[in-house]
Amino acid sequence: MSEIRVQIRHDEGEARARNVTEGTTAADVLGGDRSVIAARVDGTLRDLSHPVQDGNLVEPVLASSEDGLAIIRHSCAHVMAQAVQELFPSARLGIGPPIKDGFYYDFDVDRPFAPEDLVRIEERMRAIVQTRQLFARREVSDEQAREELATEPYKLELIGLKGATASHDDMMSVEVGADTLTIYDNIDPANGQVAWKDLCRGPHLPSTRHIPAFKLMRSAAAYWRGSEKNPQLQRIYGTAWESKGSLANYLHLLAEAEKRDHRKIGKDLELFHFDPTAPGMPYWLPKGLRVLNNLLAFWREEHEERGYQEISTPLVNNKRLWEISGHWDHYRDNMFIIDNDDEEPSYALKPMNCPSAMIVFNLKTRSYRDLPLRLSDCDPLHRNERSGTLHGLLRVQKLQQDDAHIFITPDQIHEEFQRIFDIADRFYKIFDLDYKFRLGTRPESYIGDAETWESAEATLLSILDARTGGDYEVENGGGAFYGPKIDILMSDALGRPWQMGTIQLDFQLPRRFGCVYTDEHGQRQTPVVIHRVIYGALERFLGIYIEHTAGAFPLWLAPVQVSIIPVAPEYVEYAHKVADALHHAKVSVELDARNETLGMRVRVAQQQKVPLMLVLGAREAQSGTVSVRRRGERTLTTMDLGLFVDRVASAVRARVDVELPPDAG
Ligand SMILES: [Zn+2]
Ligand SMILES: [Zn+2]
Repeated sequence: MSEIRVQIRHDEGEARARNVTEGTTAADVLGGDRSVIAARVDGTLRDLSHPVQDGNLVEPVLASSEDGLAIIRHSCAHVMAQAVQELFPSARLGIGPPIKDGFYYDFDVDRPFAPEDLVRIEERMRAIVQTRQLFARREVSDEQAREELATEPYKLELIGLKGATASHDDMMSVEVGADTLTIYDNIDPANGQVAWKDLCRGPHLPSTRHIPAFKLMRSAAAYWRGSEKNPQLQRIYGTAWESKGSLANYLHLLAEAEKRDHRKIGKDLELFHFDPTAPGMPYWLPKGLRVLNNLLAFWREEHEERGYQEISTPLVNNKRLWEISGHWDHYRDNMFIIDNDDEEPSYALKPMNCPSAMIVFNLKTRSYRDLPLRLSDCDPLHRNERSGTLHGLLRVQKLQQDDAHIFITPDQIHEEFQRIFDIADRFYKIFDLDYKFRLGTRPESYIGDAETWESAEATLLSILDARTGGDYEVENGGGAFYGPKIDILMSDALGRPWQMGTIQLDFQLPRRFGCVYTDEHGQRQTPVVIHRVIYGALERFLGIYIEHTAGAFPLWLAPVQVSIIPVAPEYVEYAHKVADALHHAKVSVELDARNETLGMRVRVAQQQKVPLMLVLGAREAQSGTVSVRRRGERTLTTMDLGLFVDRVASAVRARVDVELPPDAG
């Protein structure tokens, strides 16, 4: 046997050369480490049983890596499909790709799967894992594949599609690549028989025993190849991990996220409602609107103080405006168009505020002395999103942004970004959120000249360096097509990342709208525009913030700030007096004098996450005091009513937590 020479590289380190005999597998050269479940050979993922060739660079794929997890998950999908066909022999196979955190497989079955079915399937899967079946790859001709899969109509369809869709359909390409077809046999080591097989591009785990931890999650209907014109299949979702600990951790986070789901909390706290007649367009209920208005009031105050001037512009514009801005050509599919009976569509609801800000800028002759000109704007916007993408407040069709367009000279970029960073800092601190910046640089398709781009990017880099000491991310090619941008990223209480605000430089829109100012030499110049949002869409911000806090808002933001509970009917009158005093001090109160037990009413206030609860009885009524309980605490503090009202009102005004004296009572 002849010798070949391969390079082996671990952990992105130096590659080391090794001579091996021909026919040596990737598993042989990578050694017996059990955490290695596949190989990357010259950049392509391969089974460990793949024979290496002369000159190959061979790298291990660890079970815990992103690629490793995808291979575990996809292999688990095979095991699930095998279990389903053993239990439901008439089930026909769709596709079974890995997805984020798990996998699915689609089946054509006589009836939808019931929860009991999933339990049985999971049991059968465990048995298959126990038998340590080998995943064995085999190349087949199209003809041979058709013959072997004659009873699988969907697989036959995929064979016909090979090459045509495989290259640009990720999910489908799991089964058939653009090259030779391959079938993976599951071989039972006890008897050497093929227990099951699937058309698949691979790679796979060496054997089923390499699936350390999995769980089936749910089933749902899904159309074949995502089209309503095709047959409806039944999809089973599962999750699989490299260890039992990781699976347990994932299930815990999932349960936590479910408890914090803003759609559920929004309903429990009566904040908002989505009606089928207005998909993706929230109804703000009284309490939710109070929260939204509190967010806006804070936004207004902070921006007026910093020289921003608020405007409001038409929600509906003639398409001529969108033609100038470029939205008609590039964004029309996302706009709500208003049809005229006899003419072509000529009006549209605004999806963005930018063009209107340009119009306002152009109303006057502007000089460099007028810049920066900061126009802020929180008008409702409408964006026509595909219905499947809508998700509570996180993805809506009607939204309000804390938007602003700032017109500046090119040499004001540095200074203005500093000011915006100060605002971001103020905003994220008040919500106690940790955030980071991410610079997005010139994308592949861009407008304008490369020189302007480069100097703008250099400016932003130097600002970020000075501001963060290097603690920021760079996304190469992540800029908008009209200029570089800086995104604000945060991670929530469950460690989930979110993109929040964005600050974008724009050299193009002011040009398209013919915006000019005269510089200090009397020359006409085009201003640079900064588009910036700090919250982002208020709806989305609130959705994320609800999940982050589980609905326990800080005092100043809470829809009900103080809940008042008289212990018995004879103290209702005093309770009203207390409520009035707070109300006059602009504190939002709710008085619960219902004919329910004290314990019951206290529980309701707790469930509503009200920051402060007052329990009023004989002692309080006689002495003109209140007994206060903070959200999440058990102790009661008794204090003078007047003092309490002052403390709460000033804490709300200053948007800080209230200070209560140590219990004197
Ligand atoms: Zn497969
Ligand atoms: Zn804009």
